[in-house]
Amino acid sequence: MMVIMQQGATEEQIRHVMERLEAAGVKPHPSRGEFVTVIGAIGDDRELVASLALEAEPGVEKVVPILKPYKLVSTDFRGGTDVVVEVAGRKVGNGSFGLIAGPCAVETREQTLTAAHAAKDAGASMLRGGAYKPRTSPYAFQGLGAPGLDILREAREETGLPIVTELMNLRQLDDVLDVADVVQIGARNVQNFDLLREVGQAGVPVLLKRGMATTIEEWLLSAEYVAREGNPNVILCERGIRTFEPATRATLDISAVPVTKSLSSLPVIVDPSHAAGKRDYILPMARAAVAAGADGLIVEIHPAPEHALCDGPQALHTETFDEWVADIRRIVDVMGKVIAGDGSVPVGA
Ligand code: PEP
Ligand code: MN
Repeated sequence: MMVIMQQGATEEQIRHVMERLEAAGVKPHPSRGEFVTVIGAIGDDRELVASLALEAEPGVEKVVPILKPYKLVSTDFRGGTDVVVEVAGRKVGNGSFGLIAGPCAVETREQTLTAAHAAKDAGASMLRGGAYKPRTSPYAFQGLGAPGLDILREAREETGLPIVTELMNLRQLDDVLDVADVVQIGARNVQNFDLLREVGQAGVPVLLKRGMATTIEEWLLSAEYVAREGNPNVILCERGIRTFEPATRATLDISAVPVTKSLSSLPVIVDPSHAAGKRDYILPMARAAVAAGADGLIVEIHPAPEHALCDGPQALHTETFDEWVADIRRIVDVMGKVIAGDGSVPVGA
């Protein structure tokens, strides 16, 4: 870290800071300028910056960390190799494209099985669907809960598609882990650190949505919570952030794809459904995401969007979903990637 002293900091204040650094086991290197003294300290400063709290010392202007605040999920840690998250033989990352599709919420057995078959027939890699739904209004449909998980289990048995489903709190952990091949942590829970630690300990692959007001650095620190528990299998998902623009439900931060991939070894997928909020925008946004280098997509589909209990306006029709996928597959091809589990290639390719 670099400790920048205030103009006019006394010799005693400088010495005191140096002594504190030495006591913490790092060697201080002072550079004395005409006006300001800067003390450099080489070493892993991730814990030191917070634990020393040198900014609170008299005479200190600012402390500048040198290392990124996250470590295990950074590109530096793995020397440039990507994490490939493998789910029931389907890989996400390093050229293998994860296409996840399904309803926003599990509503009925028939609705979910229809969506599951449409996803499978179109060549999707995994099935999504929430049994527990985080809704803004307490009067809105909250999900079927445990019976919804049973329907997802049946959908996997019928189609063979791995299940991605959301975990909202620790009370649901065992039930969700019993069904989920990938546990989704939603935008509203991205900084629920207890939940992140638990899914880290569970060792299950995690789909970690970006929060609607979360910086990329904060999002990566959330992923670091999971990785620190010994679970590197995190798929990051950009799903739009809050901006001043009301024309779409959120603003899809396409730049988050290349930026996050340059900072982290984790696969990054995009959810154009929640970013757009409107069906017609989802294809162009999905195309852009694939072209920007996304490692996958997660999209909502429904057999009768006009009757959906949750997110109908953004649901793609199951009937024409194969055409939608055919369009996206062309761009996946151009990017030199292959949809994981796509019928045209062996599972696990
Ligand atoms: C969802 O995927 O259904 C969902 C609620 O997404 P988000 O957490 O991104 O809002
Ligand atoms: Mn939804």
